[in-house]
Amino acid sequence: MIDVHAHFAEEGYGFPAEWEKIKAAGVQTVILAADTLEHAAWHAKFCKEHEGAFFTVGVHPEFASSFAFNGTPPTLPSTLKEGGGKKKCPLPAFPRVILNECEGSRGTESERHLRDSSALPQNDAASGVVEGFRSRFLSLAADKKCVAVGEIGLDYHYPDPDKAAQRAAFEAQLEIAEELGLPVQIHSRDACADTLAILRAYHGRRKHGFLMHCYSYGAENLNDFLELGAYFSFGGVTCFKNARRVVEAVAACPMERILSETDSPYLSPFRGEKNTPANIPVIVEKLAEIKGVSLDEMIGTIRRSAARLFPRIQ
Ligand SMILES: [Zn+2]
Repeated sequence: MIDVHAHFAEEGYGFPAEWEKIKAAGVQTVILAADTLEHAAWHAKFCKEHEGAFFTVGVHPEFASSFAFNGTPPTLPSTLKEGGGKKKCPLPAFPRVILNECEGSRGTESERHLRDSSALPQNDAASGVVEGFRSRFLSLAADKKCVAVGEIGLDYHYPDPDKAAQRAAFEAQLEIAEELGLPVQIHSRDACADTLAILRAYHGRRKHGFLMHCYSYGAENLNDFLELGAYFSFGGVTCFKNARRVVEAVAACPMERILSETDSPYLSPFRGEKNTPANIPVIVEKLAEIKGVSLDEMIGTIRRSAARLFPRIQ
Protein backbone atom coordinates (compact mmCIF):
# COMPACT_ATOMS: atom_id res chain seq x y z
CA MET A 1 0.00 0.00 0.00
CA ILE A 2 1.04 3.56 -0.55
CA ASP A 3 0.60 6.94 1.11
CA VAL A 4 1.14 9.54 -1.62
CA HIS A 5 1.03 12.54 0.74
CA ALA A 6 2.31 12.84 4.31
CA HIS A 7 4.48 15.24 6.32
CA PHE A 8 7.22 14.12 8.72
CA ALA A 9 9.45 17.20 8.96
CA GLU A 10 9.35 18.76 12.43
CA GLU A 11 6.16 16.87 13.29
CA GLY A 12 7.59 15.05 16.28
CA TYR A 13 7.30 11.46 15.11
CA GLY A 14 9.48 9.02 17.00
CA PHE A 15 11.73 7.24 14.52
CA PRO A 16 12.65 4.48 13.91
CA ALA A 17 9.63 3.10 15.83
CA GLU A 18 7.07 5.01 13.73
CA TRP A 19 8.62 3.84 10.45
CA GLU A 20 8.56 0.25 11.67
CA LYS A 21 4.89 0.63 12.60
CA ILE A 22 4.13 1.98 9.09
CA LYS A 23 5.94 -0.92 7.41
CA ALA A 24 4.25 -3.44 9.71
CA ALA A 25 0.86 -2.01 8.66
CA GLY A 26 1.68 -3.03 5.06
CA VAL A 27 2.51 0.45 3.78
CA GLN A 28 5.62 0.00 1.64
CA THR A 29 5.77 3.45 0.04
CA VAL A 30 5.33 6.93 1.51
CA ILE A 31 5.73 10.20 -0.40
CA LEU A 32 6.67 13.04 1.93
CA ALA A 33 5.21 16.35 0.77
CA ALA A 34 7.02 19.62 1.40
CA ASP A 35 5.56 22.86 2.71
CA THR A 36 8.87 24.71 2.35
CA LEU A 37 12.34 24.02 0.94
CA GLU A 38 13.54 23.45 4.53
CA HIS A 39 11.00 20.66 4.92
CA ALA A 40 11.98 19.20 1.56
CA ALA A 41 15.62 19.10 2.73
CA TRP A 42 14.56 17.39 5.98
CA HIS A 43 12.57 14.82 3.99
CA ALA A 44 15.45 14.29 1.53
CA LYS A 45 17.73 13.33 4.40
CA PHE A 46 15.09 10.98 5.85
CA CYS A 47 14.60 9.33 2.43
CA LYS A 48 18.32 8.61 2.08
CA GLU A 49 18.08 6.41 5.15
CA HIS A 50 14.68 4.77 4.57
CA GLU A 51 13.76 2.41 1.78
CA GLY A 52 10.31 3.12 0.35
CA ALA A 53 10.36 6.78 1.40
CA PHE A 54 10.26 9.46 -1.32
CA PHE A 55 9.75 13.21 -1.22
CA THR A 56 8.53 16.26 -3.09
CA VAL A 57 9.99 19.74 -3.29
CA GLY A 58 7.87 22.87 -3.33
CA VAL A 59 6.35 25.77 -1.44
CA HIS A 60 2.82 25.41 0.00
CA PRO A 61 0.45 28.30 -0.77
CA GLU A 62 0.39 29.14 2.94
CA PHE A 63 4.08 30.06 2.61
CA ALA A 64 3.71 31.75 -0.79
CA SER A 65 5.10 35.02 0.49
CA SER A 66 8.36 33.21 1.30
CA PHE A 67 8.68 32.20 -2.33
CA ALA A 68 11.69 34.20 -3.41
CA PHE A 69 10.93 36.45 -6.33
CA ASN A 70 13.26 39.24 -7.33
CA GLY A 71 11.42 42.34 -6.20
CA THR A 72 7.70 41.95 -5.85
CA PRO A 73 5.90 39.20 -7.69
CA PRO A 74 3.62 40.20 -10.55
CA THR A 75 0.49 41.78 -9.08
CA LEU A 76 -1.69 39.69 -11.37
CA PRO A 77 -0.29 36.43 -12.61
CA SER A 78 0.01 36.05 -16.33
CA THR A 79 -2.75 33.54 -16.93
CA LEU A 80 -5.32 35.51 -15.00
CA LYS A 81 -4.42 38.94 -16.30
CA GLU A 82 -7.48 40.93 -17.15
CA GLY A 83 -7.88 41.58 -20.83
CA GLY A 84 -5.93 38.46 -21.76
CA GLY A 85 -2.37 38.24 -23.00
CA LYS A 86 0.74 37.36 -21.11
CA LYS A 87 2.20 39.75 -18.64
CA LYS A 88 5.93 39.85 -19.24
CA CYS A 89 7.81 39.68 -16.02
CA PRO A 90 10.20 42.64 -16.01
CA LEU A 91 12.77 40.75 -13.93
CA PRO A 92 16.02 39.23 -15.21
CA ALA A 93 15.84 35.69 -16.54
CA PHE A 94 18.36 33.87 -14.45
CA PRO A 95 19.04 30.29 -14.91
CA ARG A 96 19.42 29.37 -18.53
CA VAL A 97 22.13 31.93 -19.15
CA ILE A 98 24.19 30.88 -16.16
CA LEU A 99 23.72 27.17 -16.71
CA ASN A 100 24.69 27.51 -20.36
CA GLU A 101 28.10 28.61 -19.15
CA CYS A 102 28.66 25.21 -17.52
CA GLU A 103 30.19 23.79 -20.71
CA GLY A 104 32.36 20.79 -20.16
CA SER A 105 30.76 19.61 -16.95
CA ARG A 106 27.84 17.26 -17.18
CA GLY A 107 26.10 18.97 -14.26
CA THR A 108 23.13 17.58 -12.42
CA GLU A 109 20.22 15.99 -14.19
CA SER A 110 18.14 19.11 -13.74
CA GLU A 111 20.93 21.36 -15.03
CA ARG A 112 21.33 19.20 -18.12
CA HIS A 113 17.60 19.33 -18.60
CA LEU A 114 17.66 23.11 -18.37
CA ARG A 115 20.54 23.40 -20.83
CA ASP A 116 18.51 21.39 -23.32
CA SER A 117 15.40 23.36 -22.66
CA SER A 118 15.39 25.84 -25.50
CA ALA A 119 12.19 24.24 -26.78
CA LEU A 120 10.43 24.79 -23.47
CA PRO A 121 7.95 27.62 -23.10
CA GLN A 122 10.03 30.66 -22.38
CA ASN A 123 9.05 31.98 -19.16
CA ASP A 124 7.11 34.31 -17.55
CA ALA A 125 6.41 33.51 -13.92
CA ALA A 126 9.54 31.45 -13.27
CA SER A 127 12.07 33.92 -14.66
CA GLY A 128 11.72 36.26 -11.70
CA VAL A 129 12.74 33.69 -9.11
CA VAL A 130 15.80 34.60 -7.03
CA GLU A 131 18.85 32.68 -8.24
CA GLY A 132 19.92 31.12 -4.93
CA PHE A 133 16.38 30.04 -4.12
CA ARG A 134 15.91 28.53 -7.53
CA SER A 135 19.20 26.64 -7.51
CA ARG A 136 18.34 25.24 -4.07
CA PHE A 137 15.00 24.11 -5.43
CA LEU A 138 16.67 22.45 -8.43
CA SER A 139 19.35 20.68 -6.44
CA LEU A 140 16.72 19.17 -4.11
CA ALA A 141 14.71 18.07 -7.15
CA ALA A 142 17.75 16.44 -8.74
CA ASP A 143 17.81 13.82 -5.95
CA LYS A 144 16.56 10.56 -7.44
CA LYS A 145 14.16 10.15 -4.51
CA CYS A 146 12.41 13.42 -5.35
CA VAL A 147 9.32 12.29 -7.25
CA ALA A 148 7.28 15.47 -7.71
CA VAL A 149 6.99 19.21 -7.18
CA GLY A 150 4.59 19.99 -4.34
CA GLU A 151 2.65 20.73 -2.49
CA ILE A 152 1.84 23.82 -4.50
CA GLY A 153 -1.44 25.53 -5.27
CA LEU A 154 -3.96 27.98 -3.86
CA ASP A 155 -5.65 28.31 -0.48
CA TYR A 156 -8.14 31.15 -0.14
CA HIS A 157 -9.53 29.96 3.19
CA TYR A 158 -7.76 32.75 5.08
CA PRO A 159 -7.00 36.25 3.74
CA ASP A 160 -3.21 35.68 3.90
CA PRO A 161 -1.01 35.28 1.96
CA ASP A 162 -2.67 37.47 -0.63
CA LYS A 163 -4.07 35.79 -3.71
CA ALA A 164 -1.68 37.40 -6.19
CA ALA A 165 1.37 36.10 -4.28
CA GLN A 166 -0.16 32.62 -4.14
CA ARG A 167 -0.94 32.57 -7.85
CA ALA A 168 2.52 33.83 -8.78
CA ALA A 169 4.21 31.12 -6.67
CA PHE A 170 1.88 28.46 -8.07
CA GLU A 171 2.56 29.42 -11.68
CA ALA A 172 6.32 29.71 -11.17
CA GLN A 173 6.42 26.23 -9.63
CA LEU A 174 4.30 24.72 -12.42
CA GLU A 175 6.88 26.03 -14.86
CA ILE A 176 9.80 24.70 -12.83
CA ALA A 177 8.08 21.29 -12.59
CA GLU A 178 7.71 21.15 -16.34
CA GLU A 179 11.34 22.10 -16.89
CA LEU A 180 12.33 19.31 -14.51
CA GLY A 181 9.97 16.81 -16.11
CA LEU A 182 8.20 16.14 -12.80
CA PRO A 183 4.52 15.73 -11.91
CA VAL A 184 3.00 18.03 -9.28
CA GLN A 185 1.00 17.63 -6.09
CA ILE A 186 -1.65 20.35 -5.78
CA HIS A 187 -3.25 21.76 -2.64
CA SER A 188 -6.42 23.69 -3.45
CA ARG A 189 -8.92 24.98 -0.90
CA ASP A 190 -11.77 27.44 -1.52
CA ALA A 191 -10.06 28.28 -4.80
CA CYS A 192 -11.59 25.91 -7.33
CA ALA A 193 -12.15 28.41 -10.16
CA ASP A 194 -8.67 29.96 -10.03
CA THR A 195 -7.00 26.56 -9.72
CA LEU A 196 -8.83 25.36 -12.82
CA ALA A 197 -8.05 28.58 -14.71
CA ILE A 198 -4.32 28.23 -14.05
CA LEU A 199 -4.28 24.49 -14.83
CA ARG A 200 -6.17 25.13 -18.08
CA ALA A 201 -3.70 27.82 -19.09
CA TYR A 202 -0.83 25.37 -18.59
CA HIS A 203 -2.61 22.35 -19.96
CA GLY A 204 -1.21 22.35 -23.49
CA ARG A 205 2.31 22.96 -22.18
CA ARG A 206 2.42 20.35 -19.44
CA LYS A 207 3.47 16.84 -20.30
CA HIS A 208 3.52 15.51 -16.76
CA GLY A 209 0.56 14.70 -14.58
CA PHE A 210 -0.83 16.24 -11.44
CA LEU A 211 -2.47 15.13 -8.24
CA MET A 212 -5.34 16.94 -6.51
CA HIS A 213 -4.31 16.07 -2.97
CA CYS A 214 -7.08 15.68 -0.38
CA TYR A 215 -9.64 16.47 -3.06
CA SER A 216 -12.56 18.39 -1.52
CA TYR A 217 -14.51 19.99 -4.39
CA GLY A 218 -17.14 17.28 -4.71
CA ALA A 219 -18.34 15.15 -7.60
CA GLU A 220 -19.75 18.18 -9.44
CA ASN A 221 -16.27 19.55 -10.21
CA LEU A 222 -14.56 16.23 -10.82
CA ASN A 223 -14.93 16.25 -14.61
CA ASP A 224 -13.31 19.67 -14.95
CA PHE A 225 -10.16 18.30 -13.32
CA LEU A 226 -10.39 14.93 -15.10
CA GLU A 227 -10.43 16.67 -18.49
CA LEU A 228 -7.04 18.11 -17.57
CA GLY A 229 -5.69 14.65 -16.67
CA ALA A 230 -5.95 14.84 -12.88
CA TYR A 231 -5.38 12.12 -10.34
CA PHE A 232 -7.13 12.49 -6.97
CA SER A 233 -6.00 11.37 -3.55
CA PHE A 234 -8.40 10.76 -0.70
CA GLY A 235 -7.57 10.46 2.97
CA GLY A 236 -8.99 10.11 6.45
CA VAL A 237 -11.91 12.46 5.81
CA THR A 238 -13.40 9.74 3.57
CA CYS A 239 -13.97 7.71 6.75
CA PHE A 240 -15.87 10.42 8.63
CA LYS A 241 -19.59 9.84 9.21
CA ASN A 242 -20.51 13.18 7.59
CA ALA A 243 -18.22 12.76 4.58
CA ARG A 244 -21.04 12.67 2.03
CA ARG A 245 -19.39 15.02 -0.51
CA VAL A 246 -16.07 13.21 -0.42
CA VAL A 247 -17.77 9.82 -0.67
CA GLU A 248 -19.74 11.03 -3.71
CA ALA A 249 -16.50 12.24 -5.31
CA VAL A 250 -14.83 8.85 -4.75
CA ALA A 251 -17.90 7.09 -6.18
CA ALA A 252 -17.83 9.30 -9.30
CA CYS A 253 -14.05 9.08 -9.81
CA PRO A 254 -12.68 6.50 -12.29
CA MET A 255 -10.91 3.68 -10.38
CA GLU A 256 -7.58 4.29 -12.11
CA ARG A 257 -7.49 7.94 -11.01
CA ILE A 258 -7.84 7.29 -7.27
CA LEU A 259 -4.85 7.37 -4.93
CA SER A 260 -4.58 6.99 -1.15
CA GLU A 261 -3.02 9.48 1.24
CA THR A 262 -3.11 10.45 4.91
CA ASP A 263 -1.81 14.07 4.94
CA SER A 264 -0.22 13.02 8.25
CA PRO A 265 -0.04 14.37 10.88
CA TYR A 266 -3.38 15.99 9.96
CA LEU A 267 -6.83 14.58 9.13
CA SER A 268 -6.68 11.26 10.92
CA PRO A 269 -9.57 8.88 10.16
CA PHE A 270 -9.79 8.67 13.97
CA ARG A 271 -10.86 12.14 15.03
CA GLY A 272 -8.59 13.89 17.49
CA GLU A 273 -5.66 11.54 16.93
CA LYS A 274 -2.37 12.37 15.29
CA ASN A 275 -2.43 10.83 11.84
CA THR A 276 0.21 8.42 10.52
CA PRO A 277 0.76 6.58 7.23
CA ALA A 278 0.08 3.44 9.29
CA ASN A 279 -3.62 4.40 8.93
CA ILE A 280 -3.54 3.85 5.14
CA PRO A 281 -5.17 0.36 5.37
CA VAL A 282 -8.28 1.87 7.01
CA ILE A 283 -8.54 4.45 4.22
CA VAL A 284 -7.96 1.97 1.37
CA GLU A 285 -10.57 -0.34 2.87
CA LYS A 286 -13.08 2.52 2.83
CA LEU A 287 -12.19 3.38 -0.79
CA ALA A 288 -12.72 -0.29 -1.78
CA GLU A 289 -16.08 -0.32 0.00
CA ILE A 290 -17.25 2.84 -1.82
CA LYS A 291 -16.10 1.50 -5.20
CA GLY A 292 -17.59 -1.94 -4.53
CA VAL A 293 -14.36 -3.80 -5.27
CA SER A 294 -12.21 -6.17 -3.27
CA LEU A 295 -9.45 -4.79 -1.06
CA ASP A 296 -6.85 -6.53 -3.25
CA GLU A 297 -8.20 -4.93 -6.40
CA MET A 298 -8.19 -1.48 -4.79
CA ILE A 299 -4.61 -1.92 -3.54
CA GLY A 300 -3.39 -3.14 -6.94
CA THR A 301 -5.10 -0.35 -8.87
CA ILE A 302 -3.72 2.34 -6.55
CA ARG A 303 -0.23 0.89 -6.85
CA ARG A 304 -0.35 0.94 -10.67
CA SER A 305 -1.83 4.46 -10.78
CA ALA A 306 0.79 5.81 -8.39
CA ALA A 307 3.57 4.31 -10.51
CA ARG A 308 2.07 5.91 -13.62
CA LEU A 309 1.83 9.36 -12.04
CA PHE A 310 5.10 9.19 -10.07
CA PRO A 311 7.43 7.06 -12.23
CA ARG A 312 10.37 7.64 -9.86
CA ILE A 313 8.83 5.57 -7.07
CA GLN A 314 9.60 2.38 -8.97
ZN1 LIG B 1 -0.21 18.30 2.95
